Amino acid sequence: MAKVMAVNCGSSSLKFKLYEMPEEKVITSGIVERIGHKDAIFTIRIDGDKVTKTLEVSDHGVAVQLVMDALIEHKIISSYDEIKATGHRVVQGGPYFRHSALFNDDTYSKIESLIPLAPLHNKAHLVGYDAFKKVLPHTPAVAVFDTAFHQTMLPEDYMYPIKKEYSEKYMIRRYGAHGTSHKYLCQLGETYLDGDDKRMIICHLGSGASITATHNGRCVATSMGLTPDGGIMMNTRTGDMDPSVYYQVLKMSGKDNETIFQEFNKQSGLYGVSGISNDSRDVEDAAEAGNKDAILAVNLWARRIADFIGQYYVRLGRVDMIIFSAGIGENAGIMRKYVLERIKEALGIVYDEKVNMDTRGTIATISKPESKVKVMVIPTDEELMIARETVKTLKKNNIE
Ligand code: ADP
Repeated sequence: MAKVMAVNCGSSSLKFKLYEMPEEKVITSGIVERIGHKDAIFTIRIDGDKVTKTLEVSDHGVAVQLVMDALIEHKIISSYDEIKATGHRVVQGGPYFRHSALFNDDTYSKIESLIPLAPLHNKAHLVGYDAFKKVLPHTPAVAVFDTAFHQTMLPEDYMYPIKKEYSEKYMIRRYGAHGTSHKYLCQLGETYLDGDDKRMIICHLGSGASITATHNGRCVATSMGLTPDGGIMMNTRTGDMDPSVYYQVLKMSGKDNETIFQEFNKQSGLYGVSGISNDSRDVEDAAEAGNKDAILAVNLWARRIADFIGQYYVRLGRVDMIIFSAGIGENAGIMRKYVLERIKEALGIVYDEKVNMDTRGTIATISKPESKVKVMVIPTDEELMIARETVKTLKKNNIE
């Protein structure tokens, strides 16, 4: 029995989930938001109830102390050393990490060297790690990379057709994202398939979204690219486009580079095309109500997902299962339907309309037995995967 803390640090937030391992029991979870502000918000779950406080949190160090104090105050732990390890989500592991890694000087400096590839994320992860290190100096920490699962891709799947100099000198290539989620879904999804040759297409459709093709537990291809702006169209991100779109918009609008970059990340996708909202639910509702721009937005969204599924079907040579997951994939039957309607003929999918529409946030098979491809909804659990990876990495390093 050991308590393991899964940590996800952003530039102004710290999310945590405390597990009893190996039982995988969630003891508590919470978030500190608006770190660096006088009115930061700290939320922690105590016996299923949310306890929220607004207070000044000047930096991540203060945030970690706040979390630890709350764990003691609410008698979740009686001393800090009850926490046997922390597992930190790290967005960019570059070409260095195929697996999770124990935090040491080497791991730290590699993550640091990758800051240019993921400036906001990797920097924040290290700030978070430093803050935990100060409060829990003897507790081992593990880095769990969003990119690690995708490191099994072949060069033809991850290289960009750019000058060799850029790929080599600047390490510009596809790394993918959401790898921790895709790995979790791949492992769980495969338990629902028979035989020893399992090929799946996993659709992680949250506000950030990516699709991965897997073969026997390994990633073969993934839609996100160098950054999270690549791949399929998302709530607010463009996904893949002709690279000259960027140049033309820049030239014609007279806006600066940073503005266009932010617009392509935060004001495009479903939001940009519909002009309605950065939450897919609002766009979905507007489309159902007949709003033309919203209808175009969801059609475009579904088309691009269908195209990727088609591409990955060919890449895998066959597909046994398609999984829908994350905010939209788990909850929005209508959005799944838009996708399924576009792929069902080519892939021989027969699905149950009612089961699809009724499934929200639970594991369900939405295809019928006669379907050539099994289609499932599986809720993802990145934090649990981080806790599992942390335990596994400690064992690998002979740390009890
Ligand atoms: P992320 O972790 O990338 O922020 P999530 O996987 O939590 O994303 O997904 C968030 C998005 O999922 C929301 O912006 C919304 O578009 C969609 N979503 C969340 N819940 C629902 C729901 N109940 N019905 C439909 N869409 C939902």
